[in-house]
Amino acid sequence: MIYSKNFLRLTLFFLAISTASYAQTKFQPQDTEFYEPKSKIVHTSPNKAPSDAIVLFDGTNLNQWESAKTKGTNAPWTINDGVLAVKPGTGDIQTKQLFEDFQLHLEWKSPDIIKGEGQGRGNSGVFLQGLYEIQILDNNNNPTYVNGQAASLYKQRQPLISAVKSAGEWHIYDILYTAPKFNKDNILIAKGSVTVLHNGVVVHYNTQIEGTTEYIGMPKVVPHGAGPIILQDHGDLVSFRNIWIRPL
Ligand code: MG
Repeated sequence: MIYSKNFLRLTLFFLAISTASYAQTKFQPQDTEFYEPKSKIVHTSPNKAPSDAIVLFDGTNLNQWESAKTKGTNAPWTINDGVLAVKPGTGDIQTKQLFEDFQLHLEWKSPDIIKGEGQGRGNSGVFLQGLYEIQILDNNNNPTYVNGQAASLYKQRQPLISAVKSAGEWHIYDILYTAPKFNKDNILIAKGSVTVLHNGVVVHYNTQIEGTTEYIGMPKVVPHGAGPIILQDHGDLVSFRNIWIRPL
């Protein structure tokens, strides 16, 4: 008996389908249910650091920080009523501990008294690994270049939306950061990226980091390893509270 090519093809096709569905029916639900390894238990509650976080500032001390200008010396900023404030002119502060990929939470507030304009109003910033700035700025009725507004990846990418609050109100940043990766020859093999929630709203979603934050000129690709969190002294009385980090 001679079969046409099409008949043979069709027969093989249906044979393949029935074999695949037979294989599927041989699975039991428990074949794809796993019990090990167990996820680590973390306790959470509103307005508190998760139990596995490294608390960088809880309102009481600056033990986790040092001067960025004179490393090894105490962070020179002030604490009043549980709130950390920039002491203008003393320079940036940075964490003693260095980090790679992380989840960072911090709350900030620009000065109650509105002073200055553009980049000169309530300016600070958080530098990821000490190199890539997420801008802090009093953005309320204060025009400036869009890639320099609050929550911008400074001079590289503006936020998706502008989450504005009045001066003197607290803002929240939740930052998920993936560090750039370099090979043993210091060649960039994967760009860094950052996701940022500003007051709970996504303003960066896996934004690629092109290089270091530069005030003048293009970002630079600089090989580096773990780095600190730096808070910027830009001469304005910006305040901080509730800062914690979870290495990922
Ligand atoms: Mg800044």
